[in-house]
Amino acid sequence: MTRLSAPRRSRLWTGAVVLALAALAAWINLPLVSRVFDRSSARVAALPAATPFRAGQRVLMLSPHPDDETLCCAGMIQQAQAAGAQVSIAWMTAGDGFEFDAALTERTLRPGPQNMRALGDTRVGEARRAAAVLGVPAQRTYMLGYPDGGLFRLFTTNFTVPYTAPRTRADAVYVTGALTPDAPFTGQALEADLTRVLDRVQPDVVLAPAPQDFHTDHHTLSYIALQLMSRRHQADRLRYWVVHGGLEWPVPKGLHEALPLTVPPLANRLPWTRVDLTPEQRGRKLEAVRAYRTQTEIEPRFMEAFVRANELLSPEPLPTAGPAADAPPE
Ligand SMILES: [Zn+2]
Repeated sequence: MTRLSAPRRSRLWTGAVVLALAALAAWINLPLVSRVFDRSSARVAALPAATPFRAGQRVLMLSPHPDDETLCCAGMIQQAQAAGAQVSIAWMTAGDGFEFDAALTERTLRPGPQNMRALGDTRVGEARRAAAVLGVPAQRTYMLGYPDGGLFRLFTTNFTVPYTAPRTRADAVYVTGALTPDAPFTGQALEADLTRVLDRVQPDVVLAPAPQDFHTDHHTLSYIALQLMSRRHQADRLRYWVVHGGLEWPVPKGLHEALPLTVPPLANRLPWTRVDLTPEQRGRKLEAVRAYRTQTEIEPRFMEAFVRANELLSPEPLPTAGPAADAPPE
């Protein structure tokens, strides 16, 4: 065995690290490479089609932040309306917790509470534009305006005591055009607002995040939706989607309209169904994605990666069969 000199060893190490990084970048970014490694493309092709929407149905989309409704479901929102169903959208937050975003859009290195609130109002405007692109009129949209990144607090420590959002310094709903202006940032107030929306819309189908979605606001909203719909004995009207699915999903990043949207690794065992999009529906989805300028300026390749040949919807929140069916969320 020959011993390598120290500089040679260090060059070899550097080479190995560079190679590993290049492989990772290829997996994330190149369609061909990730298609070779991503066996779930075949699985998506074999998934059953989602139950089609019907004329006269009322469909309610529950979106944690402005953009989630478009990323997960822009295709099905269009299909529901084309079938004669009526779609409403309720956003829980204005997306006012993304500091880097405020720094960029407000052109300041240290965004303060005023900059964060301005970002909230900007994102509310983007949400309305995206909804209009998808054909959902303003009178069927509901901006609840609770704190971005704060939903878990609201349903744990702050169910009755108002929460002060660290970035906006707000402890009550402030965004323009909110459903209940000045409502305190409590779980109780959010629950009351959601109940108002459910009473007004009387939905036959509710599109909600799955409990496996990695983002805390998303899985918290999943629990709330399940609880509220169960109390109404309507939990079977819920359908589940994922936006933060783990392991850089969806790969490859960027716009690859013809590729399938594969099953998110974190919710791998849900009984997924497939919604296939026509080229026109994909085009309109891309237009709605691009209405979120504050987001596409920062992470265009993540946002556009959701414009795919299909979308995914699960009729159940947990895996339905197999030995691990009773295990907690994956
Ligand atoms: Zn979100």
